[in-house]
Parts: sequence; C-alpha cells; structure tokens
Amino acid sequence: MADPASYRPATVAVTAGRPAHEPDNPLNEPITMASTYVAGGDREYGRYTNPTWTAFETALGALEGGRCLAFASGLATVSTLLDLVGQGQKVVAPRHAYSGTVMQLADLEARGRLHAELVDIADTAAVVKACADASLVWLESPTNPALELADIPVIAEAAREAGAYVVVDNTFATPLLQQPLDLGADLVVHSATKFIAGHSDVLMGAVLTRDDELYGVLKGRRDLIGAVPGPFEAWLALRGLRTLHLRIERAQANAQELVRRLGEHPAVGEVRYPGFGAIVSIVLAEGALAADLLTHKTKLWVHATSLGGVESTFERRRRWKSEAATIPDGLVRMSVGIEDIEDLWTDLKTALDTLTSS
Ligand SMILES: *Cc1c(COP(=O)(O)O)cnc(C)c1O
Repeated sequence: MADPASYRPATVAVTAGRPAHEPDNPLNEPITMASTYVAGGDREYGRYTNPTWTAFETALGALEGGRCLAFASGLATVSTLLDLVGQGQKVVAPRHAYSGTVMQLADLEARGRLHAELVDIADTAAVVKACADASLVWLESPTNPALELADIPVIAEAAREAGAYVVVDNTFATPLLQQPLDLGADLVVHSATKFIAGHSDVLMGAVLTRDDELYGVLKGRRDLIGAVPGPFEAWLALRGLRTLHLRIERAQANAQELVRRLGEHPAVGEVRYPGFGAIVSIVLAEGALAADLLTHKTKLWVHATSLGGVESTFERRRRWKSEAATIPDGLVRMSVGIEDIEDLWTDLKTALDTLTSS
C-alpha cells in the first residue's frame, strides 16, 4: 500500500482531509452546521472548532507542511498575527504589499501600538539590516502588485538571529509553487479567497506553522477574537483546493505565454513577472488613461479587483487611493485564469491595438 506520507502534491491536494475509507462514510467531509455540541467531548462550541474547518485545515496543512488554522478572511488572519506583536515593538514589512496589510500596519502605528519599518523586499541587505531590532518580519513574495521577490532563506536566518518571527504571505505563490516553512519561515499566511478557493465566490484565510507553541497561541487568539469562517465557506474552499494543482498548472502556462506576447506589443511599456505563478503586471506605455481604457475595452477579461479565480480579471491598481504612490499610475495587475490562451490573447490584443491606433 502506498504510504500517504510519500504522496506528491497533486495527490495530497486530492486526498488530504478526507473521511476514512470505510463503508458508508461520505467521500467528502460534510458541512456541519453547528453552533454548539453536546458537552463532554473536545468540541464544545462552534467558535472553537468545526469538522468542516478541520477537513480544510488538514488538507492545506498537508500541502504547506505545517499545522493550519482557518480564519474568516485573509485579513482576519493578518489582524490576528499582528495582534501578537508586543506593545511598541518593531515590524519589518514590504513597502509594496497587499494594501490591507499595509493599511493595518499604518493604523496600528498611528495608534502607537507598534512601529512599522517598510522596506524594499528585493533589497536583501537592507531587509537584513532592518531585521536587527525587529520582533516580527513580514514578507510577501511575490509582492502585490509589483511582483518583487524576497530572498526568504537569507532573511529568515537574519530574523532568527534577531529573535524575530518570520511570516510569509504565500497567497500569490500557493503551496504548490513555494513552501515558505521549508525556507525557514515560522508562519505562512494565505488569503484562501484567492487561488486556494479559486472560484471568486468565498472569503477565507489561513495561517500555518510547524511550531506547536505558536499554533497554540494562535488557536487561543482565534477562539477569543472570533474571526472564524463559516462551515459552508470552509467546504467551498476545500472543494476549490482539490483542483489547485490543475488550475495553477493551466493558469501559469497561460500567464507565461501572455508574458511573451505582451512584451512585444507596442502599447505595453513594461511586463513584470517573477517567472512563476499566474499574476502578471503590465505598465501601459501611455500611462493611466491607457490603462483605464484597456480595462474597459475587453469582453472576456473582467474588470475586477481580487485575483486567483478560474476567470481572468484585471485592474489598474492606482485606481485605489490605498495603493502605494511608488506603483506606476499605468500599472495593470492581471490575474490570469484557466480559459483558452488564444481567446485570452485575442481579447487583450484587440483592446491593446485600439490604444496604439488612435
Ligand atoms: C487578498 C489578499 C489578502 C487579504 O485577504 P482577504 O481574504 O481579502 O481578507 C492578503 N494578502 C494578499 C497577498 C492578498 O492578495
């Protein structure tokens, strides 16, 4: 019999967190709608645990190689982690990162809760230097939406020497393309809303760690803060996770081909792509107006925020006031889906051509 511990990622994605192969068991963990449980067992109350969450946590935990806790959203996870930072302590974080994370750090700093030092995450020497007196090092790699990469092993080593915890927001890479716990991170964060759930229909978050003490602390914080997912959301996210490997494979292949073709289009000034994954950022040669026109001229590509769904979406990031001023005005972040590459390209090229012919 094959040993489940030796399964490769695609098999783990399909099999982990299933009920046992026993007569009459369902193949999938059912949705357990319960706010409370009969006393005397381990469950007790719906804010502490839920079997549908547990199935999701088991599956994502197996893929990332750590213990998992599910949350109501990616940002609920971020808040719970930042809540662990001691009063007045220093957090190192990317100057370009998910805007909700940056806004939350700014808010905590403004209220005197902590000190945030924002760094260029690709400048490893600068990040290592900033780690020296930090208590938490927050990494996002690739970053949103600049798609910069952090040297996770080197930074994790510097953080360890400083006694700081390292968190990696692994939302863009997914556990199939990057496993931060293997690279030295203490904690991994996901907005499961994105690639993990993968169908633009549910909000969920998760944190993962190999440190049992940290797991216990975070479980305690989740119990008390109460930012827990609904059972239906956990079920949808788990259903999405079952096909993560297929979706990533197809979306990444589409992204790589689009990167080649976009680079040759005269309306595109710059293409940013870290070499893996399904997120591509382009900077329109003619700036913000051209970028806005592009996002309104396609039929297949949907003008929408968020990312990681089966459908291709895009938006000009600076349309948000919260986006960093160092992100080019004409930058369009593209979340490449799993449609046919020729249809995706034809739709994009038709819209791009109108920008150069006028
Ligand atoms: C979307 C996102 C978040 C926030 O997740 P929500 O599920 O929307 O709360 C955090 N980090 C990254 C990189 C994201 O893309």
